Amino acid sequence: MLDLEECLRYYFGTDSFRPGQRSAIEAILAGRDVLALWPTGAGKSLVYQMAAQLLPYLTLIVTPLVSLMFDQVRRLQAKGFDNAACLTSAQSREYNTQVLEAMRSGYLKTLFLTPERLNSDEFLVRLRDTPISLLTIDEAHCICQWGHDFRPEYLRLGKAIQVLQPRSILALTATATPAAQEQIACLLGLRHPLRLHLSLNRPNLEYSVKEVSRLEGREIALQHLYRREGLPAVVYINQRQECETTARYFCENGLRAAYYHAGMRPDERQAVQKSFLDDELQVITATTAFGMGVDKPNVRQVIHLTPSNSLEEYYQESGRAGRDGQEAHCLLLYSQQSFERAWGQLDERYPSAELLSDIYEALFSCTPAELRAHYLSLSPTSWRQTLNAILGFEHSNGELQPPQKPLENVSAYLNYLYSTDCQRLQAMQNYARGQRCRRSLLLEYFGEQTPGFCDKCDVCRPPTTLQPPDIRTRLWQKMYSLADSLTFRTASA
Ligand code: ADP
Ligand code: MG
Repeated sequence: MLDLEECLRYYFGTDSFRPGQRSAIEAILAGRDVLALWPTGAGKSLVYQMAAQLLPYLTLIVTPLVSLMFDQVRRLQAKGFDNAACLTSAQSREYNTQVLEAMRSGYLKTLFLTPERLNSDEFLVRLRDTPISLLTIDEAHCICQWGHDFRPEYLRLGKAIQVLQPRSILALTATATPAAQEQIACLLGLRHPLRLHLSLNRPNLEYSVKEVSRLEGREIALQHLYRREGLPAVVYINQRQECETTARYFCENGLRAAYYHAGMRPDERQAVQKSFLDDELQVITATTAFGMGVDKPNVRQVIHLTPSNSLEEYYQESGRAGRDGQEAHCLLLYSQQSFERAWGQLDERYPSAELLSDIYEALFSCTPAELRAHYLSLSPTSWRQTLNAILGFEHSNGELQPPQKPLENVSAYLNYLYSTDCQRLQAMQNYARGQRCRRSLLLEYFGEQTPGFCDKCDVCRPPTTLQPPDIRTRLWQKMYSLADSLTFRTASA
């Protein structure tokens, strides 16, 4: 019988498993599928890293970001695992060939790759004679169409799985509602998976929400940044322009701040991210483009100056605070207008029935090259979803096929996406405007049971500091300063 603790010490130099790790590894070794919903930092990677060393054949890990892959391989190699590698187009052709050779010879145990590569026919053919012990899908929530990180390529993984026939599948995520968990299990074709759920509660995070007027948001954010232990901080804003002006405002007020959004060149973005990680910057103002794969342990505050589109997003973004386990604060500042704008943007994302049928007709007469041009001209948040729906996600390597599905199906599908988007935004609004414990609301959204009280949010424990001074506090301040000056006089007398 394998002594897993001994293996843990041998491979990772650690003495004990974290909750869930042992059960997950045991299930995988026994050939079961596993669906793990564990919060960020719980130690999901160790499960497949260790299983990969113990299983006889290859372990594949699908990750959505190339930067995440490089990071993981670098860490594994630093620990002495030279049988780990990744395949990306960012590496030279020669290097990738070597990786494939190592895979074929059976030396390679751990291979990271993007869903695009795994889905490609070329790669599936190469893998035909390679037995797969474990297929890991990291960030598995990317498979949910209505999800915040939806990646159409994740949807096609089901097909690749049928071809590859891995012995076990391990699906990992840190944010999935009960409905999303079902979708993950169904689309990946998990067979009676062992479901391992750890609480998503982050006890060191304090949650609070404030309704502000549109103009006052920044100023209040600034006050919070100047709190003791308020830095470093991330300030989320969903408009690029606002992101830039807010960073400037913080700089004018004595903070080292910079902005980050998808409209910048990749090298500019990387430079900003690096200075923030290195603590040269105190504040980063960012759109949702910032965060995935960024692991900065000492973020003391995450402030939202505009609400997220869903609680999944809010949980992920606010959860970037306090990774080191030290106290940290998550503040949502919202105005009446910010939700109105969010609802407006949601409506704009979906076409009317007439427009939909016009697009549909037009696409029928397009050549693949024209389709591709149309597709690339769309921003991910606008009409790409519509086009994805019409084209049935049957696009890869830029080869787009004309519409495959009847218009009624497309329209029903878009209606479904629209209504789930509405529910998600509504949940975010309920969080902001609700009078219930914030933590409970968040956790219940992900299907957890809670006592309904946490003693660490603005509802359970109304704030005593940083309220805009009302007449009573001003009076108190006057009396205090009077008392101070009296003491001073007596002392000097
Ligand atoms: P997740 O993917 O769940 O967000 P990671 O896998 O990146 O989390 O792990 C977070 C950190 O915890 C890593 O630094 C990892 O080395 C550490 N870790 C994981 N499991 C253990 C363990 N059993 N003992 C000690 N440290 C661990
Ligand atoms: Mg992870």
